[in-house]
Amino acid sequence: MIVDLHTHTTASDGSLSPVELLERAAALDVSLLAITDHDTMSGYAEAREHAATMEASPRLISGVELSCQWGGSNIHVLGLNVDMEHPALRAGLNLLCDARQARAERIAKRLSKAGCDGALEGAHFIAGSAQIGRPHFAQYMVDTGFVEDVNTAFDRYLGSGKIGDVKLFWPRLEEVVPWICSAGGQASLAHPLKYRFTGAKLRRLVQSFKEAGGLSLEVISGRQSRDQTAALAALCVKFNLAATVGSDYHRDFTYGAPLGSSPALPSVCRPLWSEWE
Ligand code: AMP
Ligand code: MN
Ligand code: MN
Ligand code: MN
Repeated sequence: MIVDLHTHTTASDGSLSPVELLERAAALDVSLLAITDHDTMSGYAEAREHAATMEASPRLISGVELSCQWGGSNIHVLGLNVDMEHPALRAGLNLLCDARQARAERIAKRLSKAGCDGALEGAHFIAGSAQIGRPHFAQYMVDTGFVEDVNTAFDRYLGSGKIGDVKLFWPRLEEVVPWICSAGGQASLAHPLKYRFTGAKLRRLVQSFKEAGGLSLEVISGRQSRDQTAALAALCVKFNLAATVGSDYHRDFTYGAPLGSSPALPSVCRPLWSEWE
């Protein structure tokens, strides 16, 4: 059974429309799919309407990838099986949408100081109706010839610790996880190794996440080594958390893994979705 609980569409920074993503997942025989765009559920809502018209659709789980901050870092939390109409979640998504707009202005100011002008208008134009994010700034920098490719844009200007990495607008982890719980969903800590924390700091993050109401770790996220998977499985056991798997699919051949590509969980892990049947 192919399970993919972490994917992006054009509603945030993915390249496939929600309908295209769902059709692709169906063609790949994905059984359980969650659309988890950054801080918006509009892609999921569109896909859900389309799923109702398909003969054989993957089971579509409502999802979102929420941005927050903890310990001075930008952390991502997956909300799965959430009721997108729940007032607490809706208020949270509105707050995050405003935070993204305010952050975009700050990013553009900083890029301008670095010699890259017009980035706010440019990134907004590229994002269109999508939730604006750093990848739209990266694309603008490539399109205008300021950098040669998206990777360089992140390595030099937008990645962790660079001038365009503006964190202060995000709500705290302890605020965000309860939105998911209130909306009847389950929170899974996205790609725990991507934050590049020491072992001790990662354990503190997992402890805070659990205390806030988090239930699961994303044990398999995109491309990672067996050792990384084993380390995350051990963290699940230590903290008695469930596990999720996700490709973090954005587009073909770049950041993230192919849609539906996630390998099986280690047997010590309790799959979060086994509690959904
Ligand atoms: P944001 O949500 O606006 O903070 O932007 C974060 C997103 O940028 C991630 O979800 C990825 O899609 C993308 N991203 C982060 N690092 C890189 C990178 N090195 N190359 C390409 N995309 C990246
Ligand atoms: Mn992304
Ligand atoms: Mn993420
Ligand atoms: Mn993601």
